[in-house]
Amino acid sequence: MSASSLVAEAVWKAIESAGSVTDEQLSMLHFLFGKNLERATRIVDQRGVKRIFGEPSGRSIFQVVGESRRKEEYFCFAEHYCACYSFFYDIVNRGEQLCCKHQLAARLAAALGACIEDKVSDEQLALLLSKL
Ligand SMILES: [Zn+2]
Repeated sequence: MSASSLVAEAVWKAIESAGSVTDEQLSMLHFLFGKNLERATRIVDQRGVKRIFGEPSGRSIFQVVGESRRKEEYFCFAEHYCACYSFFYDIVNRGEQLCCKHQLAARLAAALGACIEDKVSDEQLALLLSKL
């Protein structure tokens, strides 16, 4: 892992355990993620992060709205994957960023308890995942 992703992890862990974010943490995240953090906070403010839990397993996936007017939604895992174009282009192909704005929004909303929660059966969750 790169130094910046280790720093990011430490900041996330602190936010998650406090359930809130300080100005200092926000400015560190901003330093690490730049404009994507601004975009992510806007998504969180608009209640644009849904967390879908499968029952009975309790496994979950995030569904995050995009920012364009078409309001598309992307399935994503906060730490590993997003279905958006930027994830493949900027992160997987070019390795220029640690994660996309949807992943940031998902992580931030989860840490702050700001997700809309939804429950489906594990079968329905598996079906969603099979379409990724
Ligand atoms: Zn994304």
